[in-house]
Amino acid sequence: MRIVLLGPAGAGKGTQAARLAELLGIPPLSTGDMLRAAVLAGTPVGLKAKEAMDRGDLVSDEMVVEIISDRIGKPDARRGFILDGFPRTVVQAGALDALLAGSGLALDAVIEFKVDEAALLARIMGRAREAEAEGMPTRNDDNAEIFRTRFDAYRRQCVPLSAYYADKGYLRVVDGLLPRDDVTRQLLPFLNC
Ligand code: AMP
Repeated sequence: MRIVLLGPAGAGKGTQAARLAELLGIPPLSTGDMLRAAVLAGTPVGLKAKEAMDRGDLVSDEMVVEIISDRIGKPDARRGFILDGFPRTVVQAGALDALLAGSGLALDAVIEFKVDEAALLARIMGRAREAEAEGMPTRNDDNAEIFRTRFDAYRRQCVPLSAYYADKGYLRVVDGLLPRDDVTRQLLPFLNC
């Protein structure tokens, strides 16, 4: 199956992507994780992406489309994948459709995680505090001000994505504020599980 999870940062996409990946035996692919790894490794992509990521802005469409195009071509993604954090713009969505169509493939489901902004802020701040308390490294972009920039970027650029996928008849919506297990239960019927 080829699945896209849509929703702002902190909406629980990563958690559900990991669960679905285990259930379906296909890899979860997060462009945020790939970009953070590139930043840590100091690759040319990482160096280019770091500034936009630290500000909470999106990196260029070209950069993420290239990363995803390479990644979904790998053998472990042949049977399918769960995209978390990609696409984030209509341009990226069009590029994904074209990439898949080039191999005679299409998406199976696009699932949007709906969450309220204030509840999301509390969740993100909680995640940062927990990581700090455990002595884990905190993400540069997990603070209230950067969160607002990221949420604004989401609203501006990602909301049109819902319309894009709704027009194609792919879009399904879950309540991202429910407990994790309830969100998983909401997801499964969309995947024929
Ligand atoms: P995430 O972990 O998905 O919240 O992503 C962290 C950051 O990586 C975002 O705030 C963006 O700067 C960048 N990023 C991740 N995925 C994308 C994407 N599909 N398009 C543009 N920027 C992205």
